Amino acid sequence: MSNKPFNTLTFYGAAQEVTGSCHMLRIGDYRLLMDCGMHQGGDAITRVDDDVFEFDPAAIDAVLLSHAHLDHSGMLPKLVHEGFRGPILCTPGTRSLLQVLLEDAAQLYFRDIDYENERLARRGKPLIRARYSERDVRKVIKQCCCQRYGDWRDITGGLRVRFHDAGHILGSAIIEVSIDEGDRCQIIVYSGDLGNSEAPLMKKPASLAQADIVLMESTYGDRDHRPMADTLAEFKAIIEQAREQGGNILIPSFAVGRTQEILFYLGCFYHQGLLDGWQVFLDSPMAASVTDIYNAYLHEFDQQDLASIYGERSRDLEDFLPILTISESVDESMAINTISRGAIIIAGSGMCTGGRIRHHFKHRLWKKNNHLVFVGFQASGTLGRLLVDGARHIKLAGSEVLVKSQVHTLGGFSAHAGQTALTQWLSGFEHKPRVCLVHGEPRTLRVLADHLWEQLGIEAVIATRGASMHF
Ligand code: ZN
Repeated sequence: MSNKPFNTLTFYGAAQEVTGSCHMLRIGDYRLLMDCGMHQGGDAITRVDDDVFEFDPAAIDAVLLSHAHLDHSGMLPKLVHEGFRGPILCTPGTRSLLQVLLEDAAQLYFRDIDYENERLARRGKPLIRARYSERDVRKVIKQCCCQRYGDWRDITGGLRVRFHDAGHILGSAIIEVSIDEGDRCQIIVYSGDLGNSEAPLMKKPASLAQADIVLMESTYGDRDHRPMADTLAEFKAIIEQAREQGGNILIPSFAVGRTQEILFYLGCFYHQGLLDGWQVFLDSPMAASVTDIYNAYLHEFDQQDLASIYGERSRDLEDFLPILTISESVDESMAINTISRGAIIIAGSGMCTGGRIRHHFKHRLWKKNNHLVFVGFQASGTLGRLLVDGARHIKLAGSEVLVKSQVHTLGGFSAHAGQTALTQWLSGFEHKPRVCLVHGEPRTLRVLADHLWEQLGIEAVIATRGASMHF
């Protein structure tokens, strides 16, 4: 490593936005990318095509991946396609999830390209080509080098990396980079996405004490979440109401994390005797694969949470929630339609933009004894948001469906730390480090920066796209 006066940290995404995380560390001649996320929103083609790398992918030496969510990992196939050949350092859990998430995203992307090309061909216009292939997705997985929490890994002379549990989703990591340049040693910490300590299964985000620079996420930097006990009380009340009315419950849910969290609570309710007469359906092949992965990594989760439901019994899903049916095939999914009452149906997609939940809407949304329960954020422009905002009729595959079911939003579920938890995490560093805030909306970032100044006397910088910090 050459001894240049300045190393730099440059922000290429998640700068005054909550999506497209991508930051580059330049240490001497060495280039490390921390995350390579996709911008969310829009269709699959624009998500991939509109993001143009503002650096040469072939010049990146290694990627440090905080976790598998696509807004942190989704551009990796394109990075590989454009010449990145180095290692992708991540935890084993992240690698397992990454394969499922990238394969699913690629399927949607290629399907959209086929549709678009059919449309263009009909008009005699030139066709578009995919910006990465299935082979690139396989290469990404091959390039992953797994590293467990707590282990240091030497990257190149004087440069080491280790991961700490971020408690956000399975495998999620806080990244610590140590740079020893002989006359000085500096530590850069990137929080990744920090988990919500009230969420079940996940451990509390690890607290660190040493850093010169901290790059911290700020998703909920302006507020605290509703207490989980209130949210669960509301959830139980909805189940009770649906039982009295002889109805069913539909839950659109995100495949990674939220689905497993909801299954956890339903398992708790079952063991409390609150789900007599109910059947639970997980109707999402992707969520089912992710749930299998979560099961394989039970040792990584909060053992107290696990013990609270399993006790000394064997730890498998059938014991935990015997009333659960996982619907893999389309026939199994359609068979759920024949159940007139007592079904809790969890299906993707989380914002109702696609997936099997839309079929269940067609069958059930026009009946007033059914309940639709939102358990995650609904972005504007999505079908989920329309329903949350009180739409009385919606269009599904060209036909109109009346919305007579009761619509609820359970606001307390979150996989992110709230303002108090972010502040506490940052207060764990012994000497006030330089702090840079990423992964937040502009207003949220300003509120958090003010709060950190008042509470900790830390003057946080808000990252702007393309800007660099020198150190
Ligand atoms: Zn995330």
